[in-house]
Amino acid sequence: SGMPMEVEAVAPKIVLVPVATIGCGKTTMGHALSKLFGFAHVQSDNIRSKNQGKGLFNKAVIEALDVNDLVFADRNNHIRVMRQSLTNAVYAEHPGCYQVALYWAHNKASVEHILETTGERVNKRGEDHQSLVASLPNVCQIMEHFVGGFAPVDIDTDADQLFHNVIELDPLADAETTLVTIIDGLCNAYPQIIRRPGNDEIQAALQAALDYKPDVLYS
Ligand code: GDP
Ligand code: MG
Repeated sequence: SGMPMEVEAVAPKIVLVPVATIGCGKTTMGHALSKLFGFAHVQSDNIRSKNQGKGLFNKAVIEALDVNDLVFADRNNHIRVMRQSLTNAVYAEHPGCYQVALYWAHNKASVEHILETTGERVNKRGEDHQSLVASLPNVCQIMEHFVGGFAPVDIDTDADQLFHNVIELDPLADAETTLVTIIDGLCNAYPQIIRRPGNDEIQAALQAALDYKPDVLYS
């Protein structure tokens, strides 16, 4: 028999799973976290809407996770079966990974207040989106539809008990507060994997993220 195998402790991979609605700041956080920690940023909005029903997003997240330790699964995941389908598919291929919900808790404010704040952001974003541009005549209805269908994270449900951790966020908070809350949550839960960057580094990453423009456009 050969030499005893040296078993190296490999840090688990992390997948961040937003639970949010349109304009909460998912993509902004994805860019900032990608810059700060090297999260691979998989955007549902980079997959044409007619292909969305085919499990391509789940597949893209898994493929990103095959070659990256950190993945940001950028989709609203506001419906429980939607996030359950993602988390189950990911665990099937990467059983040891940590799937962490970034939970934009919609019970922190009224529906009207949330829609007012996120609507202003989407309006200001204007044409800088793959498909949901501010000039769409039904953009308000689409946003209302997402907020209306939003299922809060509830770790007593089959879907949400799959999360290794839940980081709670406020849809009305500014992007800096949200980013720092995510970083602190990750540093506290996974200090071996995520180290806190300096404040200057955080500011620079946030500015670059807020200046981001999409690189594909769908009509
Ligand atoms: P998503 O739909 O959840 O991906 O939201 P985005 O990340 O695209 O954010 C919507 C728009 O709001 C973008 O143009 C962002 O640059 C902007 N944004 C994000 N967070 C904030 C914020 O805290 N304050 C303001 N004023 N704008 C923000
Ligand atoms: Mg987005």
